[in-house]
Amino acid sequence: MADTFSFSTKLIRKTVAVDPQTGAANVPIYLSSTFHQKDFDHYGKYDYSRSGNPTREALEEAIASLEGGVRGFAFASGMAAISSAFLLLSAGDHAVVPKNVYGGTFRILTQVLNRFAISYTFVDTTDLEEVERAVRPNTKVIYVETPSNPTLKVTDIRAVSEIARAHGCLTFVDNTFMTPVFQRPLELGADLVLHSATKFISGHSDVVAGLAVAGSEELADRLYFLQNAMGAILGVQDSWLLLRGLKTLDVRIRKSAQSARMIAEFLKTRREVRTVYYPGLPGHPGSALQARQAESGGAVLSFELKNETCARTFVDHASLPVFAVSLGAVESILSYPPRMSHAELSGEERVKAGIASGLLRLSVGLEDPGDLIRDFQDALDAVREKEKLTVRSGE
Ligand SMILES: *Cc1c(COP(=O)(O)O)cnc(C)c1O
Repeated sequence: MADTFSFSTKLIRKTVAVDPQTGAANVPIYLSSTFHQKDFDHYGKYDYSRSGNPTREALEEAIASLEGGVRGFAFASGMAAISSAFLLLSAGDHAVVPKNVYGGTFRILTQVLNRFAISYTFVDTTDLEEVERAVRPNTKVIYVETPSNPTLKVTDIRAVSEIARAHGCLTFVDNTFMTPVFQRPLELGADLVLHSATKFISGHSDVVAGLAVAGSEELADRLYFLQNAMGAILGVQDSWLLLRGLKTLDVRIRKSAQSARMIAEFLKTRREVRTVYYPGLPGHPGSALQARQAESGGAVLSFELKNETCARTFVDHASLPVFAVSLGAVESILSYPPRMSHAELSGEERVKAGIASGLLRLSVGLEDPGDLIRDFQDALDAVREKEKLTVRSGE
């Protein structure tokens, strides 16, 4: 029966749990680090909250079910989840990782895991031959992040998982941008799904959290061991906030994605905009693949203006979005990757990654899309006016 429910029903069934003791319609916040044991010989399910806590467990069960995995794990941040997952590797192991991987993941590989003799090769994961060529006898993981940040390149999860399986390695997928509402990597053959739950799953810019879901018991046991051993668990109150965020995830991300598509289409009509990166639009190089493996292009898009001055003018004149790092919230968030998420890259590295000086990223929130479009219209008009003045004064 349960398997016949559609995703949105499952989402509510998994996040609303009637408390058998009181009838409370929500999972209680069990603020307890320790648990009384019945007697000398009989120990209960919980003993210490690093090892297990009922509120955190409710969240972990919910995300496991939504991703279609066997077990979920809640961590103190997306990076805590990703770092703990990489500790499945040992000295001498090797990972194949996308060139445009999230900056924090790049940092943990190149500045921490390298000290433990875990090596890596950065590749363009949209190029399957390049992925295959990078695999070595000691490769243990192929890592995927799709769509990628900030140019929304799409990687074929099923094809990469097949390459990984053929070489006896695991596939990890960072599913932050899509969430299980739109994309379920385990169903496409991946072994482990990772999330920065700070983004869409929390949805309100009020929690920093990470989630992981294992596709097999064997991997789940190994990850549970690491979660307990490393101790980078999510706190109880934040676990509860994520459960609350999850309940509205489906409606939030669908509405935001619908608006994102409208905004992307609008931006395409404007002369001030050189390129629009949105995998839900037909002209995007990954759009066909995106349509095969995900239900939507998502709620994040990027667009390129002529140069930094134009980007600055746009940011100064766009009044609705907050100007900040992060994404996936009820409020639209505009960010400037060259100085924010990708500030650590050199100018040359940024050019190689396609991150031009006029690139802006927009995470679309729940404002009325018409209002957002009017706001961006005004901001682009300001960009054009400023350009005219600059040309006239011969700057
Ligand atoms: C934000 C983000 C992370 C890191 O998550 P934190 O919660 O900030 O630690 C990892 N991957 C992607 C794609 C992200 O956007």
